[in-house]
Amino acid sequence: MMNTSRKLRLSKMSGTLLLALGTLLSSTGPALAQVGFPPPPPRISPAAGVIDMHVHPDPDVFGRSLTDIELATVARRKGMRGLVLKNHVVTTADRAALAMQQVPGIEIWGGIVLNSSVGGVNPAAVEWMHRMSGGRGKIVWLPTFDSDKHIKTLVDKNKSGLRVAIDGKVTPEMEEVLKIIARENLVLATGHVHPEEVVAVVKRGRELGVKNMLVTHGLTNIPGLSLEQAKQVTAMGAKIEICYLQFMTGPQAQYPWMTHWDRVDAKAVAQAVKDIGAEHLVLSTDLGQQGMMTPPDGIENQVAAVKAAGVSQADIDTMMKRNPALLLGL
Ligand SMILES: [Zn+2]
Repeated sequence: MMNTSRKLRLSKMSGTLLLALGTLLSSTGPALAQVGFPPPPPRISPAAGVIDMHVHPDPDVFGRSLTDIELATVARRKGMRGLVLKNHVVTTADRAALAMQQVPGIEIWGGIVLNSSVGGVNPAAVEWMHRMSGGRGKIVWLPTFDSDKHIKTLVDKNKSGLRVAIDGKVTPEMEEVLKIIARENLVLATGHVHPEEVVAVVKRGRELGVKNMLVTHGLTNIPGLSLEQAKQVTAMGAKIEICYLQFMTGPQAQYPWMTHWDRVDAKAVAQAVKDIGAEHLVLSTDLGQQGMMTPPDGIENQVAAVKAAGVSQADIDTMMKRNPALLLGL
């Protein structure tokens, strides 16, 4: 049995302890930092409200980590506004409509990549894509791994691939595709073509009334726009995409398929914001590959990285929320 004065002392002490604990728990970041903890991850995901214009879910011909439905579910849980599904060999207009039906509460778009599997730069493929029921077919990517630039850079410099412009003039098929994009108010995304082709297509696209143009991962080695060319195409109304995947590529990257792509990291984004301007840039992930973080995780990491490189939240919002929404006609 304790005597009364000792009991009183103990209860006074625990009262003081409880008070201190209460203060600690009721306060936020700074108090935790004072006692030696770094700030915990924010309860609201930095991906909330973001539209990722470049994700690669399953089903696919390459190893992917999540299906359309799984990815849409994770993205919705993090409060993301939307996703653009990309597949190098078949249209995603149909599956975008299905995924959106299965995961209500998030916007999902698809499109078509003009590789050999759909007949290359094939106006008929674009025409049928945008007519798909559900109306989610919105993006037309120029050739990626079948493009001349991609093949010469990554396969064999003596081989050739699909071209969309020659000597600064778009090919007749490209001209037809641009007319459909303009008429249906679709989004032109430039894929993996030569930088001179990017300039030619954007120029002709603008002349034909194409409103929404995105230069696919414009600053890495494919397409490899110079700063001059980047300024030239943004002056003609195109936006330049920078993908989180390219924050991790380069000779030291963990997977062989990542080693031949130039790294364009958070520092490069900060520089691009200064040189080109956030109003002309779009940040997306290009993620979904087997073994990599999911695209919504990629968005969270990308936000953290570019913030640490000195980019403001306002510029991040412009590049991840406002510009994708503008391109998609929201
Ligand atoms: Zn991609």
